[in-house]
Amino acid sequence: MKLILLGPPGAGKGTQCKRVVDRYNLAHLSSGDILRAERAAGSELGRKAQSYMDSGGLVPDDLIIDMMIAAIKKAPANGYVLDGFPRTVVQAEGLDKALTAAGEKIDAIVELKVPDSAILSRMTGRRSCPVCGQVYHVVNLKPKVDGQCDKGCGALVQRKDDTPDVVDHRLKTYHEQTAAVVGYYENKYPILPINADQEIDRVTADMFKGLDDLAR
Ligand code: ADP
Ligand code: ADP
Repeated sequence: MKLILLGPPGAGKGTQCKRVVDRYNLAHLSSGDILRAERAAGSELGRKAQSYMDSGGLVPDDLIIDMMIAAIKKAPANGYVLDGFPRTVVQAEGLDKALTAAGEKIDAIVELKVPDSAILSRMTGRRSCPVCGQVYHVVNLKPKVDGQCDKGCGALVQRKDDTPDVVDHRLKTYHEQTAAVVGYYENKYPILPINADQEIDRVTADMFKGLDDLAR
């Protein structure tokens, strides 16, 4: 199964992706996670991406397309979920070109729908484990011990781009450049719209139901 998970920042893409990849045994290919790993490793790509990420803008399309196509090529045969990519129509076109060349296609687009009003508190309350990538929330999804990863990795961190100003810029960027990607995929691949403005477990249940139907 090859899936694309779309939705605004804070929609729950990372959280839901982890559950989907466990259930269907897929690879989780998150452009944000890959970029953060490149930065942590001090690579040239990481250095180039830094200023865009910190301001809440988008990293240039050509860098992202090359990075994600390389990750897709390395993914196991069982499939993957793309999280945070494509974020522009140019990226979607780049992905299509590469898939067509490889004789592959996407099985479905999952669209997590959530109003802007729900997003700020999700983002400013987000905490993540820098070691295993597990994502928590200070109110909605608390770790067992405040500030510590449940898996024993150590202290949780707050992302530098989860401050109100940067979140505001990321939402603007989403509406200006990313929202159109759903329209690009209409009539191309099946789209599964999911109400992501409900409890995390209910969102997961709705997704599993839709994806199970699709896999039948
Ligand atoms: P994204 O990858 O789309 O930016 P995340 O999965 O990182 O979103 O979720 C953003 C924050 O919101 C996290 O702190 C997460 O725990 C919390 N969250 C995710 N889904 C929900 C939900 N349905 N209701 C409330 N909080 C949520
Ligand atoms: P979120 O999970 O909150 O949606 P991400 O972790 O996906 O955020 O992305 C963090 C930042 O990394 C973005 O604000 C952007 O600067 C950069 N980024 C991630 N994916 C892409 C992409 N597909 N195209 C351009 N920039 C990206």
